[in-house]
Amino acid sequence: MTANPAQPTRRPLTVLLATPRGYCAGVERAIQIVEAALDAHDEPVYVRHEIVHNRHVVEELEAKGAVFVDEIAEVPDGAEVIFSAHGVAREVVEQAEKRHLKYLDATCPLVNKVHAEASNRARQGYHVLLIGHAGHPEVEGTLGQVAPDAITLVQTVADAETVTVPDPARVAYTTQTTLSVDDTTAIIDALKRRFPALAAPGKADICYATTNRQDAVKAIAPRADALLVVGAPNSSNSRRLVEVAAAQGCPRAVLIERAADMDFGALEGIATLGLTAGASAPEVLVQEVIETLRQRFDVTVENVVVREENVVFSLPRSLVS
Ligand code: SF4
Repeated sequence: MTANPAQPTRRPLTVLLATPRGYCAGVERAIQIVEAALDAHDEPVYVRHEIVHNRHVVEELEAKGAVFVDEIAEVPDGAEVIFSAHGVAREVVEQAEKRHLKYLDATCPLVNKVHAEASNRARQGYHVLLIGHAGHPEVEGTLGQVAPDAITLVQTVADAETVTVPDPARVAYTTQTTLSVDDTTAIIDALKRRFPALAAPGKADICYATTNRQDAVKAIAPRADALLVVGAPNSSNSRRLVEVAAAQGCPRAVLIERAADMDFGALEGIATLGLTAGASAPEVLVQEVIETLRQRFDVTVENVVVREENVVFSLPRSLVS
């Protein structure tokens, strides 16, 4: 059979597809909570902050009737409000209760675990060092579990080297759930050097989903000429995946929100492309990237599985009939 000269030959491209990737159990649960609340009500359902950090998800829920607000003050009297997967400070719950608003808490159970650790440690007289990134909603929620003078945010190894505590013998740490495992280890090591009695959480705070997605990136990044992470710019775990890929020697690791963001010029000369997605990015956006690549390349997808995930979090009892 002779090749059709009008049909240009597409260049081969191997896509290393990281598994696990995309939605985690906490994100699935949070979205299900909003959907169930929308099904149960004719009136709008209010959600404080993006339920998960993904524009696509937020826009889909808005189209179904969810109204996203920044503060409780924006929720009308008598309405129902949902707290996002990232968790909220106690003060936010108190604001909702003071106004007699009905609320549903979509905080991920693994974030709740961190909240419980911080408050238990503070109650036991420890000063809590929270390892995390300033301004992230999860960090604000965890800081808001205890009195401000009982907790200090530590963002970097440099912070760990200089942070001061009231009593070096009574100090505990806890972490944001979506950090880089390797960067956090360096910070904890620095804290342990300074505070040998440093109390650790019973179980690691960086969640299973964050760890698994980083491990999957570590498996593909050394083989990839470039790597795409599908995720939102404000998604902590997605941004960490870009950093992990770069730390593994991948020459070009880029965060994109969806296929339309792909820079095909930057894919010139690339034979092997890594692909993954942050914990708040739906699989439909990953498949959209693959389909868009197929329009230009002769794509072979190699699924690289580092771990099976079967974690499921149950919905709040009030939503389960
Ligand atoms: S990334 Fe981890 S902590 Fe955050 S929602 Fe998912 S499972 Fe929960």
